[in-house]
Amino acid sequence: MALSEFELIDRFFKNAFPDAPEVSCGIGDDAALVSVPPGQELALTMDTLVAGIHFPASATPADIGYKALAVNLSDLAAMGAEPRWITLSLTLPQDPEHWLEGFMSGFSLLAEKYALSLIGGDLARGPLSITLQLHGFVPAGSALRRSGARPGDRIYVSGTLGDAGLALGMLDHRFIVDEQHHAALLQRLHRPQPRVELGLALRGLATSAIDISDGLQADLKHILEASHAGAALNPERVPVSGAMQQLPPEQAWNLALTAGDDYELCFTLPASVTDVAVKNLAEIIPLQCIGHVTAQGEIDWRRSDGTIYKPDGAGYHHF
Ligand code: ADP
Ligand code: MG
Repeated sequence: MALSEFELIDRFFKNAFPDAPEVSCGIGDDAALVSVPPGQELALTMDTLVAGIHFPASATPADIGYKALAVNLSDLAAMGAEPRWITLSLTLPQDPEHWLEGFMSGFSLLAEKYALSLIGGDLARGPLSITLQLHGFVPAGSALRRSGARPGDRIYVSGTLGDAGLALGMLDHRFIVDEQHHAALLQRLHRPQPRVELGLALRGLATSAIDISDGLQADLKHILEASHAGAALNPERVPVSGAMQQLPPEQAWNLALTAGDDYELCFTLPASVTDVAVKNLAEIIPLQCIGHVTAQGEIDWRRSDGTIYKPDGAGYHHF
């Protein structure tokens, strides 16, 4: 017989994760009770994933559980916040037991890695939809904002860009990719690695930061708008993986700049941040300087030979 709502909660959510010291009441009452340590601000972020829009049909429940948490962790990383608690709201079709089994296995991988507590949520019957809220701490006044970039600051990105977009294109048969790259690309699409440690290390150094969910071009624009600034960038410096390097350069740049779903960080560092400090940051995850902030409110892409490059495509929009 199918499990009742309460049996599902007991089986999958209650006691499945450690209690955080700041949580005096977690799952099991009408509301959770929490406190924020003195001197810290609470950073909150929420994302909804809807079947058919936010994940391809080939994504397994475990992939979905992993990614739902990864995208929220990525948002907290971009604020320089330390992730602590999760609330989770699910609408699930009939007989969700098997699906929940898979979902929670992927979810737990990241929850355990960051010692997160699941402190509450909701469960209802309906078309598959997942809403997750993540709560984290950041010392008061030290969060990374989008608004602090200043002319002259260097612009960096972490890791490589465009792999998730290439993976999607491979699944849709828009791109043909060497067999040897398939597994790594699917990993990048379904199991993005949120740059939590980098975000924490950027506190006190970066003047601005954002996570790249909609594509570098669109997300960098958010920083520049919030900071009332522009940027001069070189597409040849945009870091791309070996799989991406198999494409003609312009095609790879277009994917890297506009496909999205990368969950890397884009951030700005002022001149006062030393090469040694940058090298220390790059021990966490490779970093690439792709250009600098300018006073004009435009993004100017130029190849090394000085010719102008215009990215083709406008970032991913969910509407
Ligand atoms: P209520 O009807 O009072 O809102 P529920 O029956 O919805 O309470 O939930 C009972 C308890 O289980 C609550 O503490 C709630 O936070 C928790 N809970 C329900 N669904 C989830 C979920 N998907 N993940 C984590 N906790 C959940
Ligand atoms: Mg409820």
